Amino acid sequence: MTLIAADPATAAAPDTGMLPRPFEVRARRRELADCVTLEMAALDGRPLGFAPGQFTMLYVHGVGEIAISISGNPAEADTLVQTIRAVGAVSRALCELPEGQRLGVRGPLGKAWPVERALGKHLMVVAGGLGLAPTRPVIYWALANRDRLKSLDIVYGTRSPDQILYPQQLLGWSSAEGLRVGITVDRASEDWTGRVGVVTDLVPSMLRDPAETVAMVCGPEIMMRFAAQGLAAAGVPQDDIHLSLERNMKCGIGWCGHCQLGPHLICRDGPVFPYPAVRDLMTVWEL
Ligand SMILES: Cc1cc2nc3c(=O)[nH]c(=O)nc-3n(C[C@H](O)[C@H](O)[C@H](O)COP(=O)(O)OP(=O)(O)OC[C@H]3O[C@@H](n4cnc5c(N)ncnc54)[C@H](O)[C@@H]3O)c2cc1C
Repeated sequence: MTLIAADPATAAAPDTGMLPRPFEVRARRRELADCVTLEMAALDGRPLGFAPGQFTMLYVHGVGEIAISISGNPAEADTLVQTIRAVGAVSRALCELPEGQRLGVRGPLGKAWPVERALGKHLMVVAGGLGLAPTRPVIYWALANRDRLKSLDIVYGTRSPDQILYPQQLLGWSSAEGLRVGITVDRASEDWTGRVGVVTDLVPSMLRDPAETVAMVCGPEIMMRFAAQGLAAAGVPQDDIHLSLERNMKCGIGWCGHCQLGPHLICRDGPVFPYPAVRDLMTVWEL
């Protein structure tokens, strides 16, 4: 038997799921003081299709790689849209990437929102703060499938009026027929005439028929815990309440165990979970 050494110049690297693909920033938009949306395109000619709720690992050369949810329209596969808040080294570097800059992308990764469960039912999206980004693909999907849903309602809460994400889109959705958008802020500014209070207070009053409702919830963990409890108490079947969880991630594909939550690896088994799978784990502080 003759062993032939692979020519490193021509040998294809095995697809381990760890190799970032080259993308380029095509547009960037400042959303909030610390938050930017990037629109990116694949440089290898293969658009990145995704299902609502999935995420990618974004790699900034020489800085590092982090998990970011896809916040674009699943029907527009040519452009990868992601909204990033600058909280540390990598997210800050991503927020500063100029148009034309290259970066690495792995994915799409993780389990999606089970949107098909909402067919023939009322769909309620409950989002807090930046949690509107991972739920926005569900809203795009729902708008494209309006005639297959009983209704679509969006309940959104954030700290203050200047922290409202995608305000123009929320405004547009709120004037769409049959679609209700409830917005509340924790702290009002002088010119705020809307509702003040936590998002979980708004949820029960916006439910139409709890037994026939599917809810998708994303936001700070404490908000998701109380929102899920409130939805369940109001009569939404617990299997029809879905949450998207976050933990610090490294490999993103279930190898390293970095994002373990009880028996689950969030990257592989989530980030979207049915409420009963994580209900008890969410009551343990900082698990
Ligand atoms: C599945 C998934 C989807 C995500 N989607 C988005 C998104 O759409 N937009 C976005 O801006 N961020 C998102 N995140 C969070 C993002 O991955 C973290 O903000 C990022 O890892 C921070 O890295 P850094 O190097 O910038 O900061 P670091 O220096 O790593 O951290 C800075 C601070 O943020 C905290 N932190 C780090 N990671 C997380 C985390 N996962 N959750 C909460 N706090 C964290 C650290 O404890 C520290 O206080 C997502 C995370 C996951 C797991």
